[in-house]
Amino acid sequence: MRILGIETSCDETGVALYDTEQGLLGHVLHSQVPMHAEYGGVVPELASRDHVRKVLPLTRKLLADTGATLDSIDGVAYTAGPGLVGALLVGAAVGRSLAFALGVPAVAINHMEGHLLAPMLESDPPEFPFVALLVSGGHTQLVQVEGVGRYEMLGQSLDDAAGEAFDKTAKLIGLGYPGGPALARAAERGDVSRFRFPRPMTDRPGLDFSFSGLKTFALNTIHQHPNAGADVAAAFQLAVVETLAIKCRRALQQTGLTRLVVAGGVSANVHLRERLDRLAEEQGGRVYYPRPELCTDNGAMIAYAGALRLQAGQHEPLSFTARPRWPMDELAPV
Ligand code: ATP
Ligand code: MG
Ligand code: FE
Repeated sequence: MRILGIETSCDETGVALYDTEQGLLGHVLHSQVPMHAEYGGVVPELASRDHVRKVLPLTRKLLADTGATLDSIDGVAYTAGPGLVGALLVGAAVGRSLAFALGVPAVAINHMEGHLLAPMLESDPPEFPFVALLVSGGHTQLVQVEGVGRYEMLGQSLDDAAGEAFDKTAKLIGLGYPGGPALARAAERGDVSRFRFPRPMTDRPGLDFSFSGLKTFALNTIHQHPNAGADVAAAFQLAVVETLAIKCRRALQQTGLTRLVVAGGVSANVHLRERLDRLAEEQGGRVYYPRPELCTDNGAMIAYAGALRLQAGQHEPLSFTARPRWPMDELAPV
């Protein structure tokens, strides 16, 4: 079974082909980052319009790159939420229509389920059950995963997501947008011991997170030490990484599980990976990540999730909807 996946939930247009026998045949991506950089953040209307411009040319490029034909496609998966409503509607409209035109089923995919399943595209995928840490631009979640669509939320951020905290802190240090990777680079030049940032919500039980205080802490520190950008970056990154590691350890202990899956844009962070690998080693477990290019948004994870759901017989009616908010624990099990 060969599935076309379409991702347009935010500021990247991603299209991919996944084949249940042959694996990932190809994926192409167009990032809108340079377009939004001028405004210091994603402008929703510009995002939607750019998805309209890019989604079909990218699909043609994907078919040309992979040598696949339109009529070899057995189903279409599109991201239906969570995300920006206008951006989601573009992928949903194109995906649903294309499936109708080809006479194949369409399936609506939850973007966070896409992130969560992305490590399954690697050569040594995790087996169920596992704990998943989803760390992206809009979400920080710890999830107990028993199978596809069987997700129990263990904890989540009460305010800013981890990626959002990286982006906002980077902005106030003057590193531009999007800040996550830039802040990680700046941190390499910094003295990590000069400032000590708090590890929010680690002094009490529970698996929820709060990252907005770190941003304020960074703001106050940089006001007092205007030239300390790299040192602030290093201390901030360490605080986020340590906080995530403490909660992951708790989640593994609480559930008795040993496998940890980490996905979403922040899972590309090298320090986070090193720290969590060490944690898993101490606990006699293992961590699974997507390859770096599949940590951030992409069509491959949507095509893969779509393949699993279509194989299980799930599909949409001829109508389509976008769900800007769509909690993962509302998904149907496979
Ligand atoms: P969501 O998936 O919650 O809807 P999103 O799709 O915008 O949000 P992703 O594309 O998964 O988020 O990830 C983007 C985020 O990852 C940004 O906040 C970015 O700064 C962050 N990020 C990317 N690379 C790194 C890195 N190396 N270190 C820290 N953060 C990073
Ligand atoms: Mg993005
Ligand atoms: Fe994402």
